[in-house]
Amino acid sequence: MAEGKPARIAVPKVRGVDIMRDPNLNKGMAFSLKERQVLGLHGLLPPAMLDQQHQVERVMVNFHRWENDLDRYIYLISLQDRNEKLFYKVVTSHIDIMLPIIYTPTVGLACQKYGLIFRKPRGLFITINDLGYVYDILCNWPVDNVKYIVVTDGERILGLGDLGAYGMGIPVGKLALYTGLAGVTPSQCLPIMIDVGTDNQSLLDDPLYIGLKQKRERGPRYDKLLDEFMKAVTKRYGDNTLVQFEDFGNANAFRLLEKYRDHYCVFNDDIQGTAAVAVAGIIASLKITGKKLSDNVFVFQGAGEASIGIALLVVMAMQAEGVSREEAIKKIWMVDSKGLIVKNRPRGGVTGHKEMFAQDHKPIDKLEDIVEAIKPTAIIGAAAVPGAFTEKLLKTMAKNHKHPIIFALSNPTSKAECTAEQAYKATEGQCVFASGSPFSPVQLKGKTYHPGQGNNAYIFPGVALAVVVSDIRIVSEDIFLTSAKSLAKLVTQNDLDKGRVYPPLSDILTVSTQIAADVVEFAYRNNMAHRFPEPKDKLEFIKSVQYDTNYESFIPHIYDWPVSGKL
Ligand code: NAD
Repeated sequence: MAEGKPARIAVPKVRGVDIMRDPNLNKGMAFSLKERQVLGLHGLLPPAMLDQQHQVERVMVNFHRWENDLDRYIYLISLQDRNEKLFYKVVTSHIDIMLPIIYTPTVGLACQKYGLIFRKPRGLFITINDLGYVYDILCNWPVDNVKYIVVTDGERILGLGDLGAYGMGIPVGKLALYTGLAGVTPSQCLPIMIDVGTDNQSLLDDPLYIGLKQKRERGPRYDKLLDEFMKAVTKRYGDNTLVQFEDFGNANAFRLLEKYRDHYCVFNDDIQGTAAVAVAGIIASLKITGKKLSDNVFVFQGAGEASIGIALLVVMAMQAEGVSREEAIKKIWMVDSKGLIVKNRPRGGVTGHKEMFAQDHKPIDKLEDIVEAIKPTAIIGAAAVPGAFTEKLLKTMAKNHKHPIIFALSNPTSKAECTAEQAYKATEGQCVFASGSPFSPVQLKGKTYHPGQGNNAYIFPGVALAVVVSDIRIVSEDIFLTSAKSLAKLVTQNDLDKGRVYPPLSDILTVSTQIAADVVEFAYRNNMAHRFPEPKDKLEFIKSVQYDTNYESFIPHIYDWPVSGKL
């Protein structure tokens, strides 16, 4: 900086009460006396000043006063609408408390009640009736430099099914995590709901329903709308705008990913993000089991977006160990609602991605019998069938292997295949357990187990940040394998001793930052990054672009004139 030149300072374009009404500028009672006087706020606030740390404490007191998590969610969203920096300060300084509220499991409940709790729109609603006008709708969004979009059509919200326009809670929540967990600039984020109707009859009958009251559009008009949407995003915000597909129904999720992945900057978190987080947990578990990844045999309960995504990445990771693709596939067994997926299955054919995992074996219907026959070292649940991992099944896993890997990934908590307690008890504390939704620590025979949460939040915020800031145009599978390895590397012996294969959630900001740095490094090494010049120190580079939750000063010291009026 040239000597004598004042540091660049944020100068709001609005004044007075409009500053306080803008969540990007509002600091509540943290405005200094000078700021209050110069910006026309004097008298609009109580005379005391409260710094941000005290504001965080006040928020936490209020937060705990609410008696249930849905009320806490509503309280936090209203804080986000009022004072963005304070909201993110609270989230980043109490991540383990906030994550289950602004994301799963509470966000699921919030989506179910979205009509009731809806206060103020956040993001864009594009409906099937807007065909031909999608670009115009994007132009209604007041921000020009959007770089991160999370979009859903609400068909498969968590494990809760079709919630139509109520699914908007998911893109809103995911983008809050982009900022809270990876330091993405919030103004660059845009949540979008593509409303093509819903097949959820209770929503169609609900007078408070906020979405289109019609059955889901599924034909060529649906595809036309999505194609128009992708083109419109590129036209409005550029071809390096990242679009994260979230909670689309199974068929559309795979189809749209295949269609767009080589032409736009997109990824599907339910398929690819889940895969990375699960594979990270599996790689970390190898430090406990002492096996190679390719020594493992997997049974997947469910053959949908999550399971197929994980299985595909496991195959890729095994290939990286030197195993052939065919050999790797032989170690993966899938189970869907019609039982074990085998070639020429008499009851229910095998289609799509499942076909690749159809094994030469006789059909078996019951999961317990499948585990008995296949003797997997790892069982991964992602079918939203609560209680699917019975005591008998868990005991069989422990009988066959010293440290069976048991991942009960279905969300929300009510859909989990088993609880942490059930898994540790049935296996006498020998299993490597992880779940999709959080479970409290479990006491068993004088030892405390801290179950890890295989939360996608470890992966997608850091990956998204890396993709945008290093200008990666195509988000390949390698990027997810890199992020998985990076996350696994961050699991310490202390974590493993406590029984978890993920770092503590409270460290997630550091974790996301490191994952982003590793992905950026990978991208430059493999000619995938388009931002030049290449930053030398990737970690420093990531830190330099992260959002600062501390308040900015609106008054430069250089204008340190004497103020009139005293408190
Ligand atoms: P999906 O709809 O794509 O797939 C569900 C699969 O379950 C389908 O293959 C279906 O055939 C199968 N299924 C249904 N009933 C079954 C039964 N009785 N027995 C065996 N299989 C059955 O859904 P998805 O995206 O794969 O998500 C599934 C679950 O995983 C959800 O609860 C979701 O919240 C959870 N999930 C967790 C994480 C995580 O923990 N990080 C990430 C993604 C998804």
